[in-house]
Amino acid sequence: MKADIKSMLPEELELALKELGEPKYRAKQIFTWLSRGVSSFDEMSNLSKQLRSTLDERFFITVPQCIRKQVSQIDGTIKYLWQLADGNAIETVVMSYKHGNTVCISSQVGCRQGCAFCASTIGGLVRNLEPSEMLDEVLFSQIDSGKPISNIVLMGIGEPLDNFNNVMRFLELVNHPDGMNIGMRHISLSTCGLTEKIDELAERDLQLTLSISLHAPDDDTRSAIMPANRGRGVDLLIDSCKRYFERTGRRISFEYAMIDGVNDTPEHARGLAKLALSASAHVNLIPLNHVEERRFKPSSPENLKRFIRILDAEGVNSTLRRKLGSDVDASCGQLRRKAASSNDKSTAADNWRNE
Ligand code: SAH
Repeated sequence: MKADIKSMLPEELELALKELGEPKYRAKQIFTWLSRGVSSFDEMSNLSKQLRSTLDERFFITVPQCIRKQVSQIDGTIKYLWQLADGNAIETVVMSYKHGNTVCISSQVGCRQGCAFCASTIGGLVRNLEPSEMLDEVLFSQIDSGKPISNIVLMGIGEPLDNFNNVMRFLELVNHPDGMNIGMRHISLSTCGLTEKIDELAERDLQLTLSISLHAPDDDTRSAIMPANRGRGVDLLIDSCKRYFERTGRRISFEYAMIDGVNDTPEHARGLAKLALSASAHVNLIPLNHVEERRFKPSSPENLKRFIRILDAEGVNSTLRRKLGSDVDASCGQLRRKAASSNDKSTAADNWRNE
């Protein structure tokens, strides 16, 4: 069995090379080649032919295949569907902002959290992504798009804290100065609220931004749309958020998708305001994306305005997230599902360009 070399940390590479009787600096050379997206050991031109063939016998290099690329004609958002070595497909989205390019990556193939409004969870969890596969999402999106990636959000398919060890390793790899060198402060991780894992993450004391997909301030509403809330509850979640903030000093964000008639009443707004103030959290309101298989609708503009007015009055900072890539199904497993269905009706809206 060959080993996945791109999932190895530089110090592990050093050890492996030492066993092959090679000097330490070889590890750095190889790590750098891998971070440039080479697809074979033969491309590592500063290594001897002998070493290249030994490496090829022991290790493999992951290279995802782009099976679909859609470019938004409205805002330039790019959505990739990558095929992995075992045939599974994952989505990655590249968004351009004034301050740089952000890549939104998947952390699992599918998801087992079962949120009622989300497309990613419909087929359940297939498997966790390897650290190399998450790194490839960033790396090959950058190479293919030609857009230097400055920010990463773990908000694609999957629950990152349900793939904890691989995600931690991915963060270490992507953050490494000899690799892509993306600063922790430029990385956001979003979770449906696995409280025990939030505490574990706090222990790591990383400088990343933690986003909590809150979507409801009370247990009745939250448990109805987010099974992860059952058996945990909002109170425990807020306690974990407070501990995270105390430990890391990093302000948390609450994600709140506005769903018509479900979580958008004045009472919900006041409940949300109370939680945000107690956890010193920033609130990100998201207009719900319509998912074909789901019965939910986005809140009306009137309800949205009323909701924001109440948050303002209660003294809570909130932003309404700009909707990027709505014409390329750029959210939450929608492209993967369309590609998976045999009667692919994906028209990708008329204003999208397929490449
Ligand atoms: N599992 C993680 C990250 C992936 S989802 C999490 O739950 O946070 C990224 C964000 O999109 C989450 O806030 C999720 O709740 C939200 N989301 C899922 N489906 C959505 C939809 N149809 N419209 C708007 N936001 C949605």
